[in-house]
Amino acid sequence: MDETEAQAPQAIPPGLHLVATPIGHARDITLRALDVLRGADLVAAEDTRRVRQLMSIHAIPRAGREIVAYHDHNAVRAGPRLLAALAEGRSVAYVSDAGTPLVADPGHRLVREALAAGHPVHAVPGPVAAIAALTVAGLPTDRFLFAGFLPAKEAGRRKTLTELAAVPATLIFYEGPHRIEEALRDMAAVLGAARPAALARELTKRHEEVLRGSVGTLLEEVMRRRREGRPLKGEMVVLVGPPAAKEAGEAEIERALAAALSSMSVKDSARFVADTLNLPRKRIYQKALEMRRQEKGRADDKDDDGDRVDDTAKAEGD
Ligand code: SAM
Repeated sequence: MDETEAQAPQAIPPGLHLVATPIGHARDITLRALDVLRGADLVAAEDTRRVRQLMSIHAIPRAGREIVAYHDHNAVRAGPRLLAALAEGRSVAYVSDAGTPLVADPGHRLVREALAAGHPVHAVPGPVAAIAALTVAGLPTDRFLFAGFLPAKEAGRRKTLTELAAVPATLIFYEGPHRIEEALRDMAAVLGAARPAALARELTKRHEEVLRGSVGTLLEEVMRRRREGRPLKGEMVVLVGPPAAKEAGEAEIERALAAALSSMSVKDSARFVADTLNLPRKRIYQKALEMRRQEKGRADDKDDDGDRVDDTAKAEGD
């Protein structure tokens, strides 16, 4: 740390400044973030109302400066305005709704365009929900993989989870309350119910809560609360610990294949799982065929049982 720089705010250099803002608690903002919001020539934000509110909480005057909206839906229109300001040698502060811009938030396109045009891009680091959750989860922190939001549909979700199943790192997912149960159910099916896991919700806010256990116990808890009429609410991060070393065997292959076979052909499932888990395609194809046969056998048995019941009922009726 440079002590002289800690004394007084510096002039804001030209370029694009990516400013992290609170994920809940309004005081979770760095002194430098406040300096940049106070001193930048132009402020751009995913939501202009939110940044105005944040500036007002911290007594930062707008001072006649423009506040430009920049988000996924207007990037084509708003981007050139911001790039023009950068080309004039001005400083532009960009903030997303919460936390760090570009982390499951807009800004990537703007950064790419600014870099392509040769403008400086500066980080003004601060809160990120993924890292805040990782620090309190109690899961390994030496290696982690941020997976963002899982796909909304089950097939896509299971495919993504299969790709991640063997990754030897703590997995971090963002999730909303409406899909948490389905997400945990798919995690249990694909990653395994026994994998250690944590769910951190409403971090730094009044109703902050961290649930710790396994994927299976978290799923049970989420279901229990829904049944009791007090479903889990708010913003949440789900973290799943790395697979146990012994898990990288038959059980994991079977789980991955079962998930793949639920939405793909035997051939595609085998290719997908073999490539994802880095295993020989031929061996996995044999396994997939065997599983499909067993599945079919079970379905046929069920039909036969059904017939028997029907026949008995018929005979009795006769
Ligand atoms: N850019 C943000 C960041 O740096 O973390 C993430 C924005 S993303 C659109 C919103 C998601 O982040 C939420 O759905 C939730 O998964 C997670 N999140 C944001 N704030 C949170 C909080 N206070 N507690 C738990 N999760 C949070």
